[in-house]
Amino acid sequence: MSEPDFENRTVLVTGGSRGIGRACCLRLAKAGACVAVNYHRQEADAAETVRMCEAAGPKAIAVQGDVADEASVAAMVARINSKLGPIDMLVNNAGIFEYVMHEEATLEHWRRTININLTGLFIVTWAVKSQMIARNFGRIVNMSSISGLRSRPYGIAYAASKAGVIGFTKSVSEALISHNIRVNAVAPGLIETEIIDDVDAPVLERIVSETPMKRIGQPDEVADVVHFLLSEASRFMVGQTLVACGGRVMLP
Ligand code: NAP
Repeated sequence: MSEPDFENRTVLVTGGSRGIGRACCLRLAKAGACVAVNYHRQEADAAETVRMCEAAGPKAIAVQGDVADEASVAAMVARINSKLGPIDMLVNNAGIFEYVMHEEATLEHWRRTININLTGLFIVTWAVKSQMIARNFGRIVNMSSISGLRSRPYGIAYAASKAGVIGFTKSVSEALISHNIRVNAVAPGLIETEIIDDVDAPVLERIVSETPMKRIGQPDEVADVVHFLLSEASRFMVGQTLVACGGRVMLP
């Protein structure tokens, strides 16, 4: 059933084709939003997400676009506007993680990670914010990670990008709140998606054993937090980063 906060709202979820992004698309479709499912390469996954959303909510479309490429994002936003109208809500979720120890970390790896995980947020937010300002309404949730709050020697660029997301969220939220655009972030712990496929089993086991809840999280557990931050239930929250990690971040 549609919820008032999401009825007649159009949401763009970057990296919506699979994993956490797909769960967000589905959660928001169930709440009654029209969903633009962004993907980069996996068209078939995006089509499957669209099918799932259409079964649960009013309307969904798949939109190709590389968040790190300004022209690609501009074309994607124009397509969403022509098919679904102005974008009311944005989930900056697209991201990559490469498991790389410092000995193998190259400038190319650093740039790739920062370009997608951090510069991508800037590009997409800047492509969308003018239509939110014009309508004096916007809700944005950025995907950080507890890697942005903790040491990650096997993902230095990733940790830097996700710490950057938290700083970006604070500053942009203050800049845009006078236009009734609320910006917040989510910092998940380990979540069961393809992004962790390259992480060695012993590393995963260690993280789980160090997590008070003793398990990996599921994408829908992050999607529920995203839904909360986009909804009026969080109406007094701005520039915040909510952590969903089974308690891992509390411990050293
Ligand atoms: P995933 O299953 O690997 O999905 C990544 C998504 O990002 C895919 O939809 C992918 O599109 C998209 N993407 C990658 N590069 C892109 C680009 N240049 N332009 C547009 N889209 C792009 O990963 P996930 O675990 O769901 O991660 C989603 C977000 O949560 C990421 O920001 C990640 O850092 C964050 N996060 C994940 C975890 C975790 O443990 N899983 C923990 C904390 C934070 P294609 O399908 O087309 O490739």
